[in-house]
Amino acid sequence: MKDEPKGLILCISGPSGVGKDTIIKELLKVRMGMCHSISMTTRPPRGEERHGVDYLFTDKSTFEALIESGEILEHDTYCSHYYGTPAKPILDMVEEGTDVILDITLKGAHEVVAKLPEAVTIFLMPPSLRSLEQRLRMRGTDPDDQIEARLERAIAEIMEAVNFDYIIVNERIPDTIETILAIYTAEQHRAKRLTNIAGKITSGQWN
Ligand code: 5GP
Repeated sequence: MKDEPKGLILCISGPSGVGKDTIIKELLKVRMGMCHSISMTTRPPRGEERHGVDYLFTDKSTFEALIESGEILEHDTYCSHYYGTPAKPILDMVEEGTDVILDITLKGAHEVVAKLPEAVTIFLMPPSLRSLEQRLRMRGTDPDDQIEARLERAIAEIMEAVNFDYIIVNERIPDTIETILAIYTAEQHRAKRLTNIAGKITSGQWN
């Protein structure tokens, strides 16, 4: 019997517009076993976004009540809206051995690590501020003042990237995916995650 560690938590952070959504979608295609934690937010749906698929859309008072009752693992405020990770689904998935990907702000990633220290944090960096602005404008989903606010926040976030486990400059999607998969493989082989391996090998239970 192989070692059966808990699921791995991959927190993917980076400025709005850096391409986290695309990277996570591509990652889920090549690693079918991984799950994306569906966040809760008080911001209104954008474009084609659907409740329960892209986000769990809710109102401020419901969100605050969930924080109060401890049902939100971590949360942050972004451009005047709450965003957070519902605790139970992610804890259940990890416990049953499913790997979970979180699309999360920097504060959120640090809160996750404070509660679940085995979580792995990756910062996706834009190749330049100009490319980030172009992506935000091309997306066409945010008004000008929101784009300005997102860019301002991006600069502050980029300065904090050194506090992550890994930094990847997101230039080409296939290269970014390849790097994340390499990180994933390395993290799965961390001695700390394979705590029962010695016993299984010595007692002949590995295969
Ligand atoms: P957007 O409005 O562009 O979908 O997301 C805005 C920001 O919120 C992004 O940086 C995204 O990573 C972050 N975000 C999305 N879900 C969560 C969450 O559950 N928790 C936290 N802390 N941030 C989130």
